[in-house]
Amino acid sequence: MHTALVISPHADDAAAFCGATLAKFAALGWRIVLVRVTDDARDSMNLTAEDTIRVNTKELHTAAKIMGIAEIEELGFPTDTLGDVSRVELRERFVYLFRKHQPYAVFSFDPFGLHENNLDHTITAQAVDEAFWVSTFDKHHPEHFEEGLAPFSVCERWYFGRDLPSANHVEDVTEHIETCINALCAHKTMMRNTVNQLKLQAQTWGRRVPVIDAAVDGALHPLLEQFLMARAHTVAQSAGLPEGQYAELFRLERFGDLEPLMQALGEPIDGARPAPRRATFGEEA
Ligand SMILES: [Zn+2]
Repeated sequence: MHTALVISPHADDAAAFCGATLAKFAALGWRIVLVRVTDDARDSMNLTAEDTIRVNTKELHTAAKIMGIAEIEELGFPTDTLGDVSRVELRERFVYLFRKHQPYAVFSFDPFGLHENNLDHTITAQAVDEAFWVSTFDKHHPEHFEEGLAPFSVCERWYFGRDLPSANHVEDVTEHIETCINALCAHKTMMRNTVNQLKLQAQTWGRRVPVIDAAVDGALHPLLEQFLMARAHTVAQSAGLPEGQYAELFRLERFGDLEPLMQALGEPIDGARPAPRRATFGEEA
């Protein structure tokens, strides 16, 4: 069984950006580990910080269960302040988790994505991207080896984001889009606060949007369904999938420019799990 690690700066990012693909991988038998980087202590309305952490954590566990995520790793950094955290310090946490869980695939925000205005997303993405190569060095964090860990390299890097100029992979998630909607709806507290941003902006605009007002008051499913289905429909259409199908978009990287050479020269290792075949890299399924 392969392992996938999803790096979620906040509790809701995994469901919001790649939840259907995670649910699909879980259904295929992958072990999925979610790494939540921050404590989400500020993401609520009318709750104390303590209650906010408690409620958002509980809702994350509900969402994770819906998507089939096996384990959650909490890094506990104060939310919305990663801009003040050293990327080298943050990188060490990811190096450690790569060596510990040995994921075949890692899902993360794309450090080269566009229109990202959340520093927790940007800083995390940059630290993860460096961790991919730092985790292979025996002179980076040798203290990990005292626990029995060893240098390790992730094989597949699945980058998600708001706007991916170098996207090269469309994952058909038609069978799993409903699961993803339900998982995102489980983040009630964070989603209401997210939707409230739109409500406040619409007020400044001089308008109100009833489906948004209803979502702030509790009826999240109609709005989140509309949002996720529309996005997944657009991705599927742009990839030429038949009407009625839904997809998520990624920049999927494996060996970069060395891909043809690695495919030409690679030989199977005895006893190794068979690698998933990716049409994105010219492999037949
Ligand atoms: Zn986030």
